[in-house]
Amino acid sequence: MNSIRIVGARENNLRNVTVEVPKQAITVFTGVSGSGKSSLVFDTIAAEAQRQLNETFTAFARARLPKYGQPDLDSVENLSAAIVVDQKRLGGGSRSTVGTITDISAILRLLFSRVGTPQLGASNLFSFNDPQGMCPECEGIGRITTLDLDAFLDRGKSLNDGALLHPDFQPGTWYWQMYAASGFFDMDKPLERYDEQEWHNLLHGRGKLPVAVGGGQMNATYEGVVEKFTRLFIKRDVAEMSERTRNRVAQYVTEAVCPSCGGARLNEAARSVRVAGRSIVELNALEATELVEVLRTVDAPVAAPMVESLLDRVGNLVTIGLGYLSLDRETATLSGGESQRIKMVRHLSSALTDMMYVFDEPSIGLHARDVARLNTLLRKLRDKGNTVLVVEHDRDVIAIADHVIDIGPKAGAHGGEVVYAGSVAALADAPTLTGRHMRHRLPLKTEVRPRTGVLTVTDAAVHNLRKVTVDFPAGVLTVVTGVAGSGKSSLVNEAFLAQHPQAIVIDQSAVGASIRSSPATYTGVMDEIRALFAKANKVSPGLFSFNSKGACPACQGLGVIYTDLAFMDGLKSTCEECEGRRFRPEVLQHRLRDRTIAEVLDMTAEEAAAFFPEKKLQPILRALVDVGLDYLRLGQPLSTLSGGECQRVKLATELHKSGTVYVMDEPTTGLHMSDIQHLLAIIDRLVTQGNSVIVIEHNLDIIKNADWIIDLGPEGGAAGGQVIFEGTPSDLLAFSPSHTADALRQEVA
Ligand code: ADP
Ligand code: ADP
Ligand code: ZN
Ligand code: ZN
Repeated sequence: MNSIRIVGARENNLRNVTVEVPKQAITVFTGVSGSGKSSLVFDTIAAEAQRQLNETFTAFARARLPKYGQPDLDSVENLSAAIVVDQKRLGGGSRSTVGTITDISAILRLLFSRVGTPQLGASNLFSFNDPQGMCPECEGIGRITTLDLDAFLDRGKSLNDGALLHPDFQPGTWYWQMYAASGFFDMDKPLERYDEQEWHNLLHGRGKLPVAVGGGQMNATYEGVVEKFTRLFIKRDVAEMSERTRNRVAQYVTEAVCPSCGGARLNEAARSVRVAGRSIVELNALEATELVEVLRTVDAPVAAPMVESLLDRVGNLVTIGLGYLSLDRETATLSGGESQRIKMVRHLSSALTDMMYVFDEPSIGLHARDVARLNTLLRKLRDKGNTVLVVEHDRDVIAIADHVIDIGPKAGAHGGEVVYAGSVAALADAPTLTGRHMRHRLPLKTEVRPRTGVLTVTDAAVHNLRKVTVDFPAGVLTVVTGVAGSGKSSLVNEAFLAQHPQAIVIDQSAVGASIRSSPATYTGVMDEIRALFAKANKVSPGLFSFNSKGACPACQGLGVIYTDLAFMDGLKSTCEECEGRRFRPEVLQHRLRDRTIAEVLDMTAEEAAAFFPEKKLQPILRALVDVGLDYLRLGQPLSTLSGGECQRVKLATELHKSGTVYVMDEPTTGLHMSDIQHLLAIIDRLVTQGNSVIVIEHNLDIIKNADWIIDLGPEGGAAGGQVIFEGTPSDLLAFSPSHTADALRQEVA
């Protein structure tokens, strides 16, 4: 068989895994959160492919690659070069847009230079990143930064009282003396009583002035505050400014759309050229679905290849469920799921073959309706002769696999083995958690809980929302649904949170700011454990902190040493001094009920719950077990937790509260079908304790268990932004014009 063969993989929790991955096929990796999927797919297979690639092109790097830089495995055969299509946000500053990152803008520019009217030549004219095409006023950014007079001036004060608020303009400063010496102002008159001439002089005045400074006379250039501030701080290269200056400047400026180009970024000449009756600015602002329609009307033989290539790429955007995005959308504003799909479009259009594409949960952010389209694209990649590896939990994506590798049986130390490898058809009979959940589906909730009040959002108009006013019931689980781009995040993460700021957001982002953070420090149990050790040994509790003199001096309490390498990711090795135990030897002589602090930090939550009967520790340790983190070690660095694990650590610390509103955006990300049952149980517990839970979800198991559903749509972008349904899951089943209702009907059919 033509396959990649991995022998003896031992990264993280992997137990000497040996496995074959067929080439030119789609292999889906399944298993509960924390079972070891990422350890196998990303930390072993993709990391090794990357390392082999590095070896091929830089002798310098090769010479510096120590043995322990390799993933922990015996051997791997037949690997292809890997492209990891992950969910890291694209970022990229204001010059990076959907159009530039997919190369669609470049082709569109070419089209305008060839067949645009009037003909002006040069395709650089249509690039806002090129001096020939960019708007001179905003230099192609589309926005300009200006002095914010409301922040800069205190109109109730006179110049002598310090009406110019920036510290460099305060009374006595060099700049202030210029205004004082100008003779233009009554220095004791509050600004609000200035007449028109005085305002003009203060803001925009200009001229040469003989100024008396410190007893002498000099000729100075007088400048109004707007010009002066702009020259000194706004037009200056930010790289030349200290961080302190930059932060200070930020308090006195605002950003607005460029008045010259209206945000279009291009100069007048470029904006005047048309294709199919539209300027390039207009085409860039269209949603991809509309752009496809306009491009189809371009009728010029010389343009045919360009139009075809544009239709292919823009068509891929639509196919993958991003039809609501416009080319001018800045990539920094895209979600993780959207970023991943954009990267996919970029790769699909390039003609590579015999590559290995590795995807991390590509169904994230996708409505059930759009998963079928995603599958089409994954198949396209495979059919070009590529090997496709997908870590995924969605039943409909798993269903298209040519081969499934199921990791388990459970998480952490209870996982790390291949528990099933074979076809999807046979997976349903496999005695694994994944197999069981492929067979059984959760029932639709028919008895919903009664609400205890309402949390209203009024006149929400963020992004595409059309002045939405809607009630979120309190004391129940509300699920907000709708296709991608329909406005769910705008409604919940922006409008709801702005109008109900007391709500607590539980997301999957990394917890803890320091690399010394662990579940023990984050949940607060570490403080209590330190106190217990201190009392038992009659020493200071500080001794047992990683940040104190008790920490191993060689690794500063990290247990590992990081080595920076030029051109490569840093390397990590266990600290030789403390052998990973993180403390000085004298600290490890102190014991609590026969255990050292290092041994306690190496306990799993479950072991710790049995070891510490103390009242202050029991609730939180039990909560960790209850959210399914029984296997997690108290001292494991938070930076190594998966998104799902972070989410549960956060939930565990919330389990004892009541009367709180929780907001979660796609909490099922990274969660296996069995983890989702866990999550539902935690949510139920929060609701039973008198909390309100609001989640944005596509996952049908969560939707089926909602007490209340708010469905947005009907489509994404301009065709969305409305509440099209509010009610119970049973009501939604009977409601016709909704993609969510369609998906739900299919699920329960
Ligand atoms: P999955 O991708 O299936 O969710 P992972 O491969 O991310 O699982 O993790 C498998 C187990 O290894 C988890 O218990 C996780 O906490 C642990 N783990 C992951 N990375 C590290 C690391 N760098 N150090 C220690 N443990 C880790
Ligand atoms: P959903 O959460 O349902 O996927 P969003 O609320 O993210 O939808 O998006 C709704 C609409 O608002 C979409 O057309 C999207 O492109 C647009 N949008 C979202 N965020 C931004 C932003 N930062 N800038 C401009 N448009 C945005
Ligand atoms: Zn401009
Ligand atoms: Zn050490």
